[in-house]
Amino acid sequence: MLHETITQILEQVDRRKEELIEQVGDLIRFQTPSPPARNTKEAQHYIASKLNSLGFEVDMWDVFPDDPNVVGTLKGTHSGKANSLIINGHMDVAEVGEDLTQWKHDPFTPVVEDGRLYGRGTADMKGGMGGALFAVQLLREQGISLPGDLIFQSVIGEEVGEAGTLECCERGYKADLAVVVDTSDLHIQGQGGVITGWVTIKSPQTYHDATRRNMIHAGGGLYAASAIEKMTKIIQGLQELERHWAVTKSYPGFPPGMTTINPSVIEGGRHAAFVADECRLWITVHFYPDENHEQVAKEVEEHLLKVAESDPWLREHPPLFRWGGKSMIEDRGEIFPSLDIDPESKEVAAVKQAHQRIFQTIPETGMSPTVTDGGWLGDAGIPTVIYGPGDLYNAHAVNESVEIEQIVQFTKVMITLIYEWCHKEK
Ligand SMILES: [Zn+2]
Repeated sequence: MLHETITQILEQVDRRKEELIEQVGDLIRFQTPSPPARNTKEAQHYIASKLNSLGFEVDMWDVFPDDPNVVGTLKGTHSGKANSLIINGHMDVAEVGEDLTQWKHDPFTPVVEDGRLYGRGTADMKGGMGGALFAVQLLREQGISLPGDLIFQSVIGEEVGEAGTLECCERGYKADLAVVVDTSDLHIQGQGGVITGWVTIKSPQTYHDATRRNMIHAGGGLYAASAIEKMTKIIQGLQELERHWAVTKSYPGFPPGMTTINPSVIEGGRHAAFVADECRLWITVHFYPDENHEQVAKEVEEHLLKVAESDPWLREHPPLFRWGGKSMIEDRGEIFPSLDIDPESKEVAAVKQAHQRIFQTIPETGMSPTVTDGGWLGDAGIPTVIYGPGDLYNAHAVNESVEIEQIVQFTKVMITLIYEWCHKEK
């Protein structure tokens, strides 16, 4: 049975639905697309002052100029004895581009229509942030004091693989459970990992377009090659490896073949009067929770070096590799560690139970087909789950929206979870 006070607070969510939607709308109005990024300062100040007014101690620091992280800590009355909880979310939203003609409404003006809230970030993930914030607000307004610590993290940079959450972990923020309230359609999820890499083919010399005959035809006598043409062998090699992985690798909770290698960007050549002396391929590699990014990068490298061995020019001029990175916009690379979840663990059970109290049904538990900051929290040794409103059809999409009822239910689950988890002894 739920505590009577909690039942009253849950009723308030329905009564104050408008206020909840206003809360999410306030976040939507801050224009925080990334790229271009470096635009979350006002939004983060808003979160900081909100947390401050709710009694949190606020830690705010610049990860990049005009892109600060905010972490609020509400010390428990029995801090250290009762369970602590991290609520984590990112303030940046996916880019909207220049062309807004496909948008029914302005992406940064929240609009309610047919039971849905429209706007960039409604699904990913200002709906989750706003709901979680409202949950905390209602608990505080009712004078609930929690025995365990509650930590609210509003981070930057998630959309472009920047170290918002990683910096929170490095700063020492820990808890007995972290909930990343990112897009999961209210399923409890773990995730696979991602590493991006650059494969570069480089000729030691640069040649005039007029020498092409000599480097490709009988009797030409010029031992040289077009880096662009050689890259086609690399791409083919990656496709073979991708297929081999799809056939041989698997992980419970994922459909087979999630370990994709996407040739996402290709660059090369100078202009039409040259033979291309350099070609760079940006790849995105997905891996399962029982693998790590170092190991997967090594598999790709070893395979491509074998491919290069079979080519008379690549053999002498093997591809070069640069793996990972700290930002898609700063150094054009990213890493998201995977996140395994144990459905039998007490942490997952707690989230399940909170969900079940509101919905009377057991939530789906599985693996997200995308990646979130949950990987960093898990990597830091914090039991972590992804659980938030919104679905992936809407995340990053034109006319992004979220069902209002889902935000309402999510807020109720968070109230229940915060209350119950932070009341439990460790
Ligand atoms: Zn997200």
